[in-house]
Order: sequence, then C-alpha cells, then structure tokens
Amino acid sequence: MSKNLDRRKPKTPASRWKKHQTGWCYIHNKALFASRKVARRVVRDYPNSGMREYACEHVAGFFHIGHLPQVVRDGLLTTREVYGRDDV
Ligand SMILES: [Zn+2]
Repeated sequence: MSKNLDRRKPKTPASRWKKHQTGWCYIHNKALFASRKVARRVVRDYPNSGMREYACEHVAGFFHIGHLPQVVRDGLLTTREVYGRDDV
C-alpha cells in the first residue's frame, strides 16, 4: 500500500454522521441533529438500515435518528401506536 493510501481517513459509518451532529442528548444518550432535514440526510447515508429521524421530546427543536421497532418493520403496529406520541 502506498503512503498516500495509509494516510487516508477510514470511512467508517460513525464518521459519516458525526459531521452532521449538533450536540448530545443526555437523556437518550443519542446524537442531536439541528433539524429534521439534517437528520433525514444522515439516514439517507444508510440505505435499507431501517432507521428514520424523529423529534427528541426533551430537547425541543432537535432530532435523533434511530431504528424502527421490529413490530413496526413487520407492519404489525405504527410507530405512533408503539410510542403513544404523534410527533414520532
Ligand atoms: Zn433525546
């Protein structure tokens, strides 16, 4: 391998979303994103991951990304039914 290749930053999944991160939510222990638009852009980096963006109910106006519950992925319930909230 050439020296040039050795210096290249590894493109790990973590490094892809961290540049979009705005802060940290200590209640959920998850990264915060400044808008739904930004969070959605991060989710688009992970096609077929089953992730989506949703509003953090503790830090108003900020968003998290996360995996959908398995029952939602299976089509048995909606996300709103699982969490009992309308803003997910
Ligand atoms: Zn949160």
